[in-house]
Amino acid sequence: MLDLAFGLTETSRLGCQIKVCNEFDGIKVRIPDDDMSLSPSSSRLPPPSSSASTSKTSSTDVNEGVLLHGPSVDWSAPDLQGTSLVSDTLQMMETDTEFKDLTAKIARLGKDGMTKEERSRRRRALDEIGIPDFLNFVTSTDYDDNGATARVVRNGKLMRSEPNILQLNIGLYCNQACNHCHVESSPLRKSETMDANVASRCLQLLRDSPLTVDTLDLTGGAPELNAQFRLLVSMARQWSIETGRPLTIIDRCNLTVLLEPGQEDLVTFLKDNRVTVVASLPCYGESNVDAQRGRGVFRRSIAGLKMLNDAGYGDNPDLRLDLVYNPSGPFLPPSQSALEVDYKRELMENFGIRFNNLLTITNMPIKRFADFLAKEGKMKEYMELLVNNYNPMTVDGLMCLNTVSVGWDGTLYDCDFNQQLGMGIVGEGGNEVGGKEKGKRKKLSVFDVDSLTDLAKISVRVDNHCFGCTAGSG
Ligand code: SF4
Ligand code: SF4
Repeated sequence: MLDLAFGLTETSRLGCQIKVCNEFDGIKVRIPDDDMSLSPSSSRLPPPSSSASTSKTSSTDVNEGVLLHGPSVDWSAPDLQGTSLVSDTLQMMETDTEFKDLTAKIARLGKDGMTKEERSRRRRALDEIGIPDFLNFVTSTDYDDNGATARVVRNGKLMRSEPNILQLNIGLYCNQACNHCHVESSPLRKSETMDANVASRCLQLLRDSPLTVDTLDLTGGAPELNAQFRLLVSMARQWSIETGRPLTIIDRCNLTVLLEPGQEDLVTFLKDNRVTVVASLPCYGESNVDAQRGRGVFRRSIAGLKMLNDAGYGDNPDLRLDLVYNPSGPFLPPSQSALEVDYKRELMENFGIRFNNLLTITNMPIKRFADFLAKEGKMKEYMELLVNNYNPMTVDGLMCLNTVSVGWDGTLYDCDFNQQLGMGIVGEGGNEVGGKEKGKRKKLSVFDVDSLTDLAKISVRVDNHCFGCTAGSG
């Protein structure tokens, strides 16, 4: 293994072979300037020798060596409170060749053209390995799945059940621009944002839907930076209290938003409204997080977690804090329970951070990640990985079966992935489209249905990206 390492010297050691003990206090460890990171954008990182990190204690990371700062680093980051990440993100987008290429390509092909192109790439990859379309594969695969497939695939269609989650993507604006973002969010996406009319209609639907609907899941972009976020949260919570209907409100939080100017009271707001925070943290090591999510994101994320802990998140049973891991490259996440143990140990020992559960998710082969796979010539390899790890036990737990996903403009979707691919729910009652498109049925919107149960009889729109939901643990 050591023979494969960069910058080998007489004293080189593999980090995983070193038993760290008290005598190591103050040890100086030099990390080679090059690495074998699988991250698509490790080039965004400064070389370790140019940062203030030449004197560090070693630990173990999920994918590569991690640098942990000494006691001189204040992880509460008081210097960053109330400062914005947006200018750093915009600068990165202007200088990073991957982002520049992608932006130019979107301008050339348009969003629909990009979606069509990535879909054809996935199809070609599946053709090369001899795999039929998703539903044919699911129904023809001979596994003992305790009837999971038969319960949800009927007459060749994936059928949803009564919805219990209303997920709102309230806007694509984000202070970050992560390289795996399936929503392709960034600070440039200012106009795609939910307005008050759509937001109040969503609340009305929540109120008019039966008791089975017990979760309001707010996502984005950075949902907290949308003008409707606080209104949606406070009105939904007030309604839940007044009617006695239990309601879990989820904020899909990127953590760095907690430090943004104007968000100084956000943690208090979340706490007061008993909002569950589900936060992205793709690693407990700085280099991996910054490579995937932008320089400086790790330090801000740790500061955000500390703010949440200080408010009681992760300790108080009413204030749930879950973290989300996704792989930094074209591989599947490791076992959720084993990784959670590592996360809890590392975050507690190094930063004193507590959280409830770790959720691991597979990178979907769509949008920015699909573009990365195509560029690296790894689309076939990745689709094959997903197919080879098909797990039939995931089928009757697919999120599209009990979730209704709403886009910023009110269009209804089966899930957030279909939303980003423009695959809206087309129902029997959908309005006819006029003009050149005459005769085609329109995608349904929140204004076309009276209750979320109206959608229970409409089958789910699946396609070749759905293999991402059935691989491994799903
Ligand atoms: S924080 Fe989330 S929404 Fe924002 S760019 Fe990253 S992955 Fe996308
Ligand atoms: S990507 Fe496909 S399988 Fe996954 S939730 Fe969406 S519709 Fe369902």
